[in-house]
Amino acid sequence: MSDIDLAALVRTIPNYPHAGILFRDITTLLLNGPGFAQCIAQMAASITDLPDCVAAIEARGFIFGAALAQSMGIGLVLLRKQNKLPGRVVGINYALEYGIDRIEMHDDAVRAGQQVLLVDDLIATGGTALAAVELLRGAGAVVTQSVFAIDLPDLGGGARLRAAGVAVHAQMEFAGA
Ligand code: AMP
Repeated sequence: MSDIDLAALVRTIPNYPHAGILFRDITTLLLNGPGFAQCIAQMAASITDLPDCVAAIEARGFIFGAALAQSMGIGLVLLRKQNKLPGRVVGINYALEYGIDRIEMHDDAVRAGQQVLLVDDLIATGGTALAAVELLRGAGAVVTQSVFAIDLPDLGGGARLRAAGVAVHAQMEFAGA
């Protein structure tokens, strides 16, 4: 595996989308072919027990989730924003800093007892990932592993996910919000 400094490929944009946020922009990592490939290879290598499928969170999670599922040779479940999926769905609402959001998946996307690996680009407070875990577990899936390109440990999402029984693997960490 190459030894590229992945964190150096992530661009930080201050005060986006709100004042005080340091937005970690992964588009600059994606532009770097060897860097993106190394990131996916590291994510795959961090998972020792092969799950049955990957579940990725819209939208940036799809980028990492699709590449990871393809490299691991397993299927991909899309966890989408409200009203995006064409078939029958199950969904869950979750609280944001201001307001409520909702993610949905097809009601036949996972089977009871399936081992599902949760994937997103970044974990901050963990609200999105925890909602995804609840949605998947509600459908009978077993969720014990998650993988992110980036963790913002000071926001506590990783700790919240671990407290819910989900191991957290992240390729990069950035201090602060
Ligand atoms: P959270 O639910 O707080 O863990 O937020 C996770 C989601 O919000 C991820 O899907 C990220 O894409 C996005 N996000 C939160 N904070 C940031 C940040 N500082 N930079 C980039 N994306 C972020």
